[in-house]
Amino acid sequence: MAPTRKFFVGGNWKLNGDKKSLGELIHTLNSGKINADTDVVCGAPTIYLDFVRSKLDSKMGVAAQNCYKVAKGAFTGEVSPAMIKDCGVSWVILGHSERRHVFGESDELIGQKVAHALQEGLGVIACIGEKLDEREAGITEKVVFEQTKAIADNVKDWSKVVLAYEPVWAIGTGKTASPQQAQEVHEKLRQWLKTHVSEEVGGAVRIIYGGSVTAATCKELASKPDVDGFLVGGASLKPEFIDIINARQ
Ligand code: PGA
Repeated sequence: MAPTRKFFVGGNWKLNGDKKSLGELIHTLNSGKINADTDVVCGAPTIYLDFVRSKLDSKMGVAAQNCYKVAKGAFTGEVSPAMIKDCGVSWVILGHSERRHVFGESDELIGQKVAHALQEGLGVIACIGEKLDEREAGITEKVVFEQTKAIADNVKDWSKVVLAYEPVWAIGTGKTASPQQAQEVHEKLRQWLKTHVSEEVGGAVRIIYGGSVTAATCKELASKPDVDGFLVGGASLKPEFIDIINARQ
């Protein structure tokens, strides 16, 4: 029997919103009908973590969108997992393509951040994904396996990790991967985990898809056997986020 993996939907609000607009969004989420069989985690801008955690219904989790690889010290502008936890927040998004490609984060740094965040007890939404030229060059698998290995080498407890496959060409472009394209990569990633970590971990880890997910595209994507949820950017700032959360109903 296939393992049951609880559906997981993350919102990635990125560098958007203010107290007024996020307060309104939170009000919408708090009063919406949320499927109890789905884990929901909202990725808020660092400066609003405390605010969001204090307003969002406790049945939904909150994530930071980044953190540093050490607990404290002379690292101007950075925040630590301990600080994130101190705000009552229990998740962090790491390795997002914007961190990789806008801020130049390497596989190595992302691996170090994953190790430290897990050691401090945070749950990690670890992101991977190929760029358009990499897909066109036929090296999607090579790229996502390398990125996954850099993460996997730093994970001891996989129960706290959600793997987010986000093809870079689909992020913020309105060009969602087709359900077949997503399923194909998710299945290969699961197989990679089974081979390189363990059969059990490969079967249990949730692999979620991100890249222009909307209320219109989420249901068919969610019907694929290896798509265990979503990481949603633009649409997570809108009321339709609730429809995406409930994609599997
Ligand atoms: P998008 O972003 O849904 O706006 O494409 C997804 C993400 O970056 O996590």
